[in-house]
Amino acid sequence: MQRLNKIVLFLFVLISIVIGFRLMKTKAQRQSRTLSKNLSYDLGYALRQDNVVPVTIVGSGPAGLSAALYIARIGMKVLTFTGPVPRGQLTQTTYIDNWPGTESVLGVNLMNDMQKHAEHFGATIVNDTITKIDFSTWPFEVQTDEGYSFKTMALIVATGATPKVLGIPGESEYWGKGVTTCAICDAFFFRNKEVVIAGGGDSAAEMVFELIPYVKKVTLLVRKGSMKASQSSQQKILSYPNAAIEYYKEIKEIYGNGQTVTAIDVYDNKTKSVQRRPIDGVFLAIGHDPNNKLVQADLAVDEHGYLLMQGRSQETSIRGVFAAGEIQDPYYRQAIVAAGEGVRAALDVKEFLYEIGFSPELGVQLQKHFFQDFSNDSMQLQEIVTTQELEKYVLKAKGLVVLDVYADDCPGCMKMLPVLEAVASKLKDSVTVLKTNMTKISKTIHPKLWYEPYNVQIRRIPAMVIFKDGKVLDMTTKLFSKRELIEYLQKFL
Ligand code: NDP
Repeated sequence: MQRLNKIVLFLFVLISIVIGFRLMKTKAQRQSRTLSKNLSYDLGYALRQDNVVPVTIVGSGPAGLSAALYIARIGMKVLTFTGPVPRGQLTQTTYIDNWPGTESVLGVNLMNDMQKHAEHFGATIVNDTITKIDFSTWPFEVQTDEGYSFKTMALIVATGATPKVLGIPGESEYWGKGVTTCAICDAFFFRNKEVVIAGGGDSAAEMVFELIPYVKKVTLLVRKGSMKASQSSQQKILSYPNAAIEYYKEIKEIYGNGQTVTAIDVYDNKTKSVQRRPIDGVFLAIGHDPNNKLVQADLAVDEHGYLLMQGRSQETSIRGVFAAGEIQDPYYRQAIVAAGEGVRAALDVKEFLYEIGFSPELGVQLQKHFFQDFSNDSMQLQEIVTTQELEKYVLKAKGLVVLDVYADDCPGCMKMLPVLEAVASKLKDSVTVLKTNMTKISKTIHPKLWYEPYNVQIRRIPAMVIFKDGKVLDMTTKLFSKRELIEYLQKFL
């Protein structure tokens, strides 16, 4: 009898948890549906407003650019905001060998082609980040980091996902000083060094291939007894004499000397023992979190923060707001799937706009009242290649000089270039902005010898070194928006 009571009690608790969880989920959905119900979707009102665009896309990865291509091709004005990672995560990888119809293509080339294709049909790509969307009014009101504001009748959220971090001691302290999530950006700085990678998926395998040409040894630390990565990648890893895979291993703490990583504590979850290991670099490839900050308060999300779709459509919990790519896909996470979802979102947008009575012809009317100018003024930056040029244009120059250290074979390392080109044009009377390509430099001299004359240790790129009258004032690897960079530089003027 007592046993029966226990079982009944257990079942009661279990059912309560499940019901509680479902109620939590549906509460978010109910809230945003209520918001949606209050919207009038009055096309006449929208057509009388200034600065209204039919479609806005947040994010320019495969999902965002495929959606842009389809919408532009219908003949509708579409603004695509690149956000902090223009052209998305594929620009941070090397070769892609599973894009149908192409045996092997560089991620960055594929994405550049996708952008050109969308622009060919008339899509506008804006190098800015959307910082606020007001979903309580229709057309939805949008604000950008650069201070622009406008309204949009439909919106596609394609903000993707961001690599996860371990959250262990030492990780944030040594971030950019030996701890990183971007092998392609930072491999240079680990020449003849010993590094580990945390993770066992395809991203971790990719990292091995990116690091192999540079490092003395790379070890994959996999927390389970098997890897998630494809069999062919696992075999390829084992074919390198300077690559190893260790199972049941987790990094518990990262140590350093203040400047750079020197050791890690590795926990063996089979033997339950901890071992301290000397190491020069820690690369993380442990999955991703959805980039939902902009919308999670208004749109229904699941327990992991991924946007919830309505049935088999790409529509979110608010009518007129759609999503595509990793922001709503915790399962498939493939570029080709994201691109497909971008197309689905574009077709759903078209249906929504037609339902409220809109058409490309009416778009001409909107166009007449669209005064917001998103054209980005920018100027070419002078390239510094030799140490003589460094001496002349940087170390002996008067005034404020910004030196951008990038690498042209690492798309992630070129992230600051468009921002710097725009800022250089804006501050041309008070700041000189120059660039130096580490790929070019490292063919002739060791990167260390390049930055030793100005006594700054660069451990990851892109990096910006700020000089005033030839003296170093600061060095940063932070990624700035145009507005943030202007504010940052004005401190030194
Ligand atoms: P995955 O989710 O596939 O793999 C994450 C890995 O990290 C797993 O081994 C996981 O271990 C491990 N992990 C997660 N959290 C921790 C932690 N706290 N500590 C230690 N290890 C941890 O992510 P990926 O980014 O590798 O891949 C995402 C998707 O993108 C996949 O579908 C993949 O196929 C795809 N992809 C495809 C590529 C290609 O085709 N060229 C390249 C890169 C990615 P566990 O297994 O124990 O959970």
